Amino acid sequence: NYLAERISRASEGPGDALFLTHHDTGQTVTYKAFFANAEQIAAALVRAGVRPGDRVAIQAPKTILMLELYVACVLSGAVFLPLNPAYTPQEVKYFLGDAKPALFVCDPEKQGALAKIAEACGVNTIWTLASNENGSLKDARDAETLGFSAVSREPGDLAAILYTSGTTGRSKGAMLTHRALASNSEVLKDYWHFDASDVLIHALPIFHTHGLFVATNITLMAGGSMIFMPRFDAEKILETMPRATALMGVPTFYTRLLECDGLQGAAHNMRLFVSGSAPLLAETHDRWRAETSHEILERYGMTETNMNTSNPYDGARRAGTVGFPLPGVELKITDPETGTPLGVNEIGILEVRGDNVFSGYWQMPEKTAEELRENGFFITGDLGKIDEDGYVHIVGRSKDLIITGGFNVYPKEVETLIDDLPGVVESAVIGVPHPDFGEAVVAIVVPEDGSLETAAISNALSDSLAKFKQPRKIIQVDALPRNTMGKVQKADLRKTYGTLFT
Ligand code: ATP
Ligand code: MG
Repeated sequence: NYLAERISRASEGPGDALFLTHHDTGQTVTYKAFFANAEQIAAALVRAGVRPGDRVAIQAPKTILMLELYVACVLSGAVFLPLNPAYTPQEVKYFLGDAKPALFVCDPEKQGALAKIAEACGVNTIWTLASNENGSLKDARDAETLGFSAVSREPGDLAAILYTSGTTGRSKGAMLTHRALASNSEVLKDYWHFDASDVLIHALPIFHTHGLFVATNITLMAGGSMIFMPRFDAEKILETMPRATALMGVPTFYTRLLECDGLQGAAHNMRLFVSGSAPLLAETHDRWRAETSHEILERYGMTETNMNTSNPYDGARRAGTVGFPLPGVELKITDPETGTPLGVNEIGILEVRGDNVFSGYWQMPEKTAEELRENGFFITGDLGKIDEDGYVHIVGRSKDLIITGGFNVYPKEVETLIDDLPGVVESAVIGVPHPDFGEAVVAIVVPEDGSLETAAISNALSDSLAKFKQPRKIIQVDALPRNTMGKVQKADLRKTYGTLFT
């Protein structure tokens, strides 16, 4: 079993090595106990009729048991399919109807609504998992005995289907193989120097690639341990840092931690801070360094590709960039129209190829054919460039590109200038329909305290930006709409402000 052999290797050492401490309950779990539980769940899955290749879907609170279920799926050859707990039953219906899982695990609090939906989607078995781990998943696990031997799986077999975050449209199920998951985590473990002495603060959700694969697989492969938190809590993280070595977070983790007292002392003994899933503001990077003497290491990845690029561990971690392609990842910038490779500092679409890349969208052959070239390159939909030193810069998503009067405006360029102005926390620049220009540039700005003179922003921009790039309208808001992964929801903003000019 390709992936199981790699993530369980660390557990072959002294079995009583610590894998995880639950922050809130203090419960500790050794590697031996964790894998024993996963084996028992694997046996329970087989008993419930789950066969290799079958999907096992779960929408449940972040628990250790949910991680055990992930590993149980790997061991039994099932395909793990986690869903964001924020999805409503109506949304879950789409995912279950699409993925047709053999088994669905849900929060007992939502069982009433979800069981009906799951049955209507043809799901045979429904188990429950509560935030305190009680429920029929646990009962099924505890009814089994030890000694499940992992089902044989090849590198090209599916290990998981992860749905994309739905930032640019309906979520798509990315099919991820044993090879894709194992190879990426192996590379990252080495690139970021993880080993058995590491203690990772795990405060990310585990339905998403960041907290599930990057954080968990790296820890398992390194033989390190993690301090497991059900959700992000800045105070708890600060209090935990002196006992930890590494933190993986989305940019909002870092901006919120910067608001806390005592960050400097707490961060003193930490080894590594990683950020990803959304762009980290250069200002956050700079303030973090000033405050803690640590440089946040920013990396770039996607549900479909695992991680693609990373700033270096030893070399310069450049704010506003996502670093270099990881070993084994080929990355090129191409012309969106023609697909021809572009030169240094030219902006185009990022395309990536490597073992890390997914094998297609679940039941969407046409979408797959549009985005995954026959030569193996995946067209990410992100726009960016590679600078003269080889650092990759992301300038936004192609779907967020603004075309006004026939000219391209890259939102990031305008946002960076606005964010640098005094009194501005952050901004989002979008294009909205305009009768003359097709689209007009609109800036949504979060002021530091209360309000700002929008005229001052316009004046400041008029010196540094061509006329067509300057916002036609500047709107002040208290906060930008974000999802759980800290991603700004530009589609929502376009909806809200879509009729400004029409
Ligand atoms: P959907 O594909 O459904 O529209 P999504 O792309 O937001 O949703 P994810 O796979 O969770 O779903 O996110 C991947 C995207 O996140 C990347 O394509 C990129 O736009 C963004 N991203 C990730 N890391 C970074 C980063 N360090 N800097 C800038 N953008 C990033
Ligand atoms: Mg995407």
